[in-house]
Amino acid sequence: MKIVYDPLYEEHLRGVAHPETADRVAAVVAHLRSRGLFDPLAPQDAGEAALLRVHTRGYIERAKQECERLDQGSVAELSTGDTVVGQRSYEVAVRAAGGVMTAIDYAAAGRGAAFALVRPPGHHAEPARGMGFCMFNNAAVAARAFAAETGQRVLIVDFDYHHGNGTQAIVGGGLSYVSTHAHPAYPGTGVRSLRRTAEGDIDVSVPITPFGISTEGFITLWATLLRQAVALLQPHAIVVSAGYDYLSGDPVGDLGVGIESADALGALLREVAQERGAAVAFCLEGGYDPVQLGVAVARTLFAYDTGTVAPETDPRAVPAPIRAQLEEMAAWPE
Ligand SMILES: [Zn+2]
Repeated sequence: MKIVYDPLYEEHLRGVAHPETADRVAAVVAHLRSRGLFDPLAPQDAGEAALLRVHTRGYIERAKQECERLDQGSVAELSTGDTVVGQRSYEVAVRAAGGVMTAIDYAAAGRGAAFALVRPPGHHAEPARGMGFCMFNNAAVAARAFAAETGQRVLIVDFDYHHGNGTQAIVGGGLSYVSTHAHPAYPGTGVRSLRRTAEGDIDVSVPITPFGISTEGFITLWATLLRQAVALLQPHAIVVSAGYDYLSGDPVGDLGVGIESADALGALLREVAQERGAAVAFCLEGGYDPVQLGVAVARTLFAYDTGTVAPETDPRAVPAPIRAQLEEMAAWPE
């Protein structure tokens, strides 16, 4: 699988003590290299038109000015929320959003899936507000670009520990969103949602107690959710908000889920994409133990590339309220 990467991604908050450290992507690149899995592809920058499909002009300008007026080496929070930025952060964020666009372009050209190893992450960024370590909503910018250019349906799949409030905010117009996340937890949104728009887009939000879920339960939940969502929507593209902070031991998230879930997600995404002929682009969201993050990314893409068979699942492993939500979704008319 191609890895969309640029050393510029390490220039956001370089040398700053912060959970969303530049070491994260550096560690993933080092691990992929050691496994012979680093097959790089250079990203583009997201153009103004692409950013404007998701974000307001006022917010884009504000983010640019607030970064560029900082002195070299100094950092500040964006005035819209809890996103620490430095002088080069805007430039990096534009290339992060562009990186996911590059990944989906590559996949949509029929060349295979791609993993955009970008930072800062994106799924908390709302149209007029950066927050939660995010400046631009990378997955949403790329998904909207795909929908605008092709007129085809796109599904964003988000398994990060946190709810992608920014992504959920822009569902519609051919863009659907399916998320599991801890709730209650940051950013406070992400209550149960099971909604279809008049145009047929879906917004499915599955809260999981922050006390966690079994590994088998998590895998079964995703196997069911993904197969149901893809059968219903028949999307032409899938953008994966791949956040690994749900893994057991993550210093920020941690739903107690074992690393083998990373293989299962790769296998499941491959299965549904092949069945429907959908293009798949992964983009990095959270995951704050750099060593674990490298292993998790490698396992997902290796399972995807090698066509590993998705594991057997057991509905009884899924907590009853979530099982009820999945059953309700399964009963939706095609
Ligand atoms: Zn997260």
